[in-house]
Amino acid sequence: MLDLLVGVTRLGALELVSLWFRAGGGSGGGRSGGGFSGGGGFSGGGGFSGRSGAGAGSLGAGLAFSLLFGGGFIFFIVLVLFLSARRGAHGAMPSMPVNPTTGDYLAGTDLARQHSGSMLELQAGLEEIRLHDPQFDPATFVSEVNKAFFVIQQAWVDRQPDLSRRVMADGIWQQHRFQIDQYLGAGKQNVLENLAIQNTYLVGANSDDTYDTITVRFFANCADYDIDLNSKNKVVRGSKRVEDWTEDWAFQRSSNAVTKPGGGTLADKCPNCGAPLDLDISGVCSYCKVAVMSGVYDWVLSRIEQLPSWEYGQSTLPR
Ligand SMILES: [Zn+2]
Repeated sequence: MLDLLVGVTRLGALELVSLWFRAGGGSGGGRSGGGFSGGGGFSGGGGFSGRSGAGAGSLGAGLAFSLLFGGGFIFFIVLVLFLSARRGAHGAMPSMPVNPTTGDYLAGTDLARQHSGSMLELQAGLEEIRLHDPQFDPATFVSEVNKAFFVIQQAWVDRQPDLSRRVMADGIWQQHRFQIDQYLGAGKQNVLENLAIQNTYLVGANSDDTYDTITVRFFANCADYDIDLNSKNKVVRGSKRVEDWTEDWAFQRSSNAVTKPGGGTLADKCPNCGAPLDLDISGVCSYCKVAVMSGVYDWVLSRIEQLPSWEYGQSTLPR
């Protein structure tokens, strides 16, 4: 129960109200306040991933949000670290087959502002966003990106890029689809077994002239291996040992966009017409016929950067 309210200790006399946040869907497995279910269990494709499903989505992770009452609401993300018993080898290099960096910031992004060095910078960035979008709620956002995480991993393992179309910006999705095509062509499948998010942090937030950008850091673990579907599912890469890995995911939208009252792309709603999100491969809504995955309307995932280790990821969190 020694959840580290690291940010809080730095705030001195500011009055704090801690709000434990329960992310959507499912029972929390955590030993600590705010059990978190990462948006449903993850099961790999075709039954190859063994024990997936039943427990994979019940995470020991927790998310804490503190509200600071100053001049108006300032959301403050508190560092919470639950050292899960499920953690694998310390410092193990991830063996994910994806590129260290996939996708790129949307054209016109102010690249100098993508990582917050301090909690105060992060807080200021969230305030910038809330300035033009008072309805923006970091807690809801984190809940939604946790679900998006599993959608994308599911698409990857099942080799069904149509599943991730509704989360990813055009550029990163094309790369994602290309990599999936390579697996399909080779008759292989990448299995991510027992995938779980252990923690999700906001590590960057800003609003520039063009875009709102929020960078989320996932601490996750799974066993990661490739099987050859043409050779009795023989493991041809990786290992069945669960290992830790961490990635920064950048979500972006136009800095003119605002939170959709009924939910937007991350909640499976068309951010233009509000219909259930049903897109073709160009990201065009089947109802309103508008290309809605450009970031003009709502949050899209534009970039994934793999970090070298959990330790690196932890040591470079905003403080
Ligand atoms: Zn639509």
